[in-house]
Amino acid sequence: MSSDQAGKNMIVLMDTGSSRDQLEAVMERLVSSGFQARMMRGAGRFVIGASGDGEAVPSPDLEGMPGVIGVIPATRPYKLVSREAGGGNSVVEAGGVEIGGCRIVIMAGPCAVETPEQMHAAARAVSLAGAKILRGGAFKPRTSPYSFQGLEEEGLKLLTGAAREYGLATVTEVVDLPSLDIALKYVDMVQIGARNMQNFRLLQAVGRAGRPVLLKRGLSATVEEWLMAAEYIASEGNAGIVLCERGIRTFETSTRNTLDLSAVPLVKGLSHLPVVVDPSHATGMRGLVGPMSLAAVAAGADGLLIEVHPDPRKALCDGPQSLSPEEFQKVAVELRAVAVAVGRAA
Ligand code: PEP
Ligand code: MN
Repeated sequence: MSSDQAGKNMIVLMDTGSSRDQLEAVMERLVSSGFQARMMRGAGRFVIGASGDGEAVPSPDLEGMPGVIGVIPATRPYKLVSREAGGGNSVVEAGGVEIGGCRIVIMAGPCAVETPEQMHAAARAVSLAGAKILRGGAFKPRTSPYSFQGLEEEGLKLLTGAAREYGLATVTEVVDLPSLDIALKYVDMVQIGARNMQNFRLLQAVGRAGRPVLLKRGLSATVEEWLMAAEYIASEGNAGIVLCERGIRTFETSTRNTLDLSAVPLVKGLSHLPVVVDPSHATGMRGLVGPMSLAAVAAGADGLLIEVHPDPRKALCDGPQSLSPEEFQKVAVELRAVAVAVGRAA
């Protein structure tokens, strides 16, 4: 930092090999100056975010402390998830699958878990096409109380059973604290859906749970609100966050939502977190899922979340936007070519 005062909001970058004592000493120095200090293990190193109305701590004081690599002023309201706080792009590991590295990760499966046969066929189809993570909702946040609400814990057993058979990791949505407690017994990654992006108590709870989180963008959330939601999770010590652009509500009604693809490179510039795209909920139309998947990878997405159902016409939820196994296979092949063209692998 060029000025000799670290200022009010700052990020303290710590050496990867910092000892607990060194981390605690920095935390104490900040807290004793009146700051709130939060620690997170970021992209391969510890970062401490300081905020609040503390007395400005002279930057050289902090920089001279053992383990401190540097002090950066936090110019945006989110600190831990900001690009400045990361030591490069974060790679989030979920059930042995790395998201945010060179390889594009495909998460796929039905909107909702329905039957053992459906999950078995879905797991088979998505693994054959090269997907690494099986999705399936067991707690469904439906617009109508009369729509299928999900199989709950029974559904999670079917999801994990099918995933295990094909060596896939798992992701499922949680909608409240009880569903989070149940999901933690089964899945590798928990999803916070668009409707819960600003359920701050739930964000804090998944932050404390420490399990990787797939954080969808809210239906009408700005990029800054989305990153602040991620900051809620990070501020509880959980750095395993993957952002998911799933379309936003606009005046356009021809598609279910409007896919904001410009958010992908934008957010990757603002944050070190991986970003994936869900073209299924973004468009609501199966015919648009393939083209938008290719566009997402070309725009720099680290992965995709795609709804696939063994028989979309019979799906209990989101059939019109679900791909059949054959359609998904075709998209997966096309994706590989685009991934290679932009210097990635799939
Ligand atoms: C889902 O992925 O099943 C879902 C409900 O998505 P969203 O929260 O993006 O609407
Ligand atoms: Mn769905």
